[in-house]
Amino acid sequence: MSICPICGRDKQDKFCSYHQTAYDNVKEMYGQWKTAAGLSWEEYLHKISDIESTGRWIREVIEFIMQQDGL
Ligand SMILES: [Zn+2]
Repeated sequence: MSICPICGRDKQDKFCSYHQTAYDNVKEMYGQWKTAAGLSWEEYLHKISDIESTGRWIREVIEFIMQQDGL
């Protein structure tokens, strides 16, 4: 398996470079949100997917994570 599970492009690590960057951002931003708003991982994912300015790559990563984790 060497393709991104989200989009089917060649993958770098877990995902392709676009989705990997988005995934790293999602994880990194959670540190700030957790501290600032006391959100759980699930609440946080819902929250950022509701924000209109959230980009396409991030939305796709969130959908993927939610499916994987059964959220
Ligand atoms: Zn991808």
